[in-house]
Amino acid sequence: MKKQLTLALVTCAALSGAHALFAAGAGPDKQLTVMRAGVRPVIQGPAANFTGKATIDRQVRPDDSKRIMGSLVSFEPGARTAWHTHPLGQTLIVTSGCGWIQSEGGKVEEILPGDVIWTPANVKHWHGAQPDAAMSHYAIVEPLNGSSAEWMEHVGAEQYASQGASTCRTTKTSTGAKY
Ligand code: MN
Repeated sequence: MKKQLTLALVTCAALSGAHALFAAGAGPDKQLTVMRAGVRPVIQGPAANFTGKATIDRQVRPDDSKRIMGSLVSFEPGARTAWHTHPLGQTLIVTSGCGWIQSEGGKVEEILPGDVIWTPANVKHWHGAQPDAAMSHYAIVEPLNGSSAEWMEHVGAEQYASQGASTCRTTKTSTGAKY
């Protein structure tokens, strides 16, 4: 019995190109999907919305069965988003490096690996790397009517430089622990 089930699973995997893993007899809506690293398209952050070089690996895409969008965004040193808002807010989870985030009228906050930042709906803000350090964060949003952000003006060189030099030159976390 166990052998038969194993055989059925292997057959199913072979027929589906090994991308979907599902129990014997389950319909397409019960399938697990494995999106392999290195196969998904990684796009450049568009110049209209980013300063400097940033890449976006959109790992979770909203569709008929889910509303969230999750992207790993990697900023080279000096790269940052333009000012923008999110219609239903945004959660950022810093995964590496050292960055900055600022809401309009607020002070710049240093963000480090392991930090989780919630930006409420329609709060104008920007985020990105520090001048001498790269930074990657996971970004989680729920689009509203197909839109996940409203983009505004860039964070200009003068405004960005006014934050001063990078405040973190080595890998660390806000608790001081290695990440
Ligand atoms: Mn944002």
